[in-house]
Amino acid sequence: LEDIKVALVTGGNRGIGYELVKQLALNGFKVILTSRDLEKGHKAALKCKESNLNVSFLMLDIDNPESIHQAVSIINERFGRLDVLINNAGVYLDRNKKLVDIDPSILERTMATNFFGAYHVIRSFIPLMEKQGYGRIINVSSEYGSMGEMSYPGVGAYKLSKLALNGLTRLLAAEIKGDIQINAVDPGWVSTDMGGPSAPRTPKQAAESILWLATTGSKGPNGEFFKDGKRIDW
Ligand code: NDP
Repeated sequence: LEDIKVALVTGGNRGIGYELVKQLALNGFKVILTSRDLEKGHKAALKCKESNLNVSFLMLDIDNPESIHQAVSIINERFGRLDVLINNAGVYLDRNKKLVDIDPSILERTMATNFFGAYHVIRSFIPLMEKQGYGRIINVSSEYGSMGEMSYPGVGAYKLSKLALNGLTRLLAAEIKGDIQINAVDPGWVSTDMGGPSAPRTPKQAAESILWLATTGSKGPNGEFFKDGKRIDW
């Protein structure tokens, strides 16, 4: 059996996720690029393969428990392992409206993807990681997920979802056993569809600032929040 580590990225078809896929592959991982959209995911994975990157595509809509269940079965069958899980998929739906003014469905949909989606994906893969006694879980959060800054208006739903994701990171870190680490990371303000064109950071830079968490040793951080390799406050 070959001993190549397997990494999975949610929302891998564009933005930061797509860059993470490429960089993981360049760093020797067998990468599973996942996307909720068959066509977009296939296309993105094909582009990677054309550059000789070890990338395969798997459909995964993190809002859909059945989709998660299928992805777990396929990975069990096809690879029998998952070493790195990057929960990158996310939505920003507030559009500058106050929390009290948004349609409650905006908050519900934001929580469904950014929080519950990540939660269901993590809990579905933890048994496999526990079986192999190894795993690195990275939750792509945001500075908005910090308790320290409560004065941003117009991002309430997004902020709550990332606060919850950060809380989940800490709670799970205390629960998991073996050489499994789970951490949250703030990629900075990144020029993607979500970040918009004026963001100062490229997706490549953002991915570089996250990648190191995929290869930490057994004494590496667990239950921490990082930006650019430095620990930041919750
Ligand atoms: P993009 O909007 O460019 O990409 C988001 C990705 O998430 C897309 O691939 C999208 O798929 C996917 N996605 C959304 N919902 C689901 C779902 N239900 N199931 C599977 N995939 C889904 O965002 P970014 O690349 O900028 O953001 C990536 C992460 O980084 C997010 O978690 C975001 O909150 C975080 N972040 C981004 C910042 C920035 O400045 N850009 C700043 C701080 C944090 P599809 O193409 O099908 O829509």
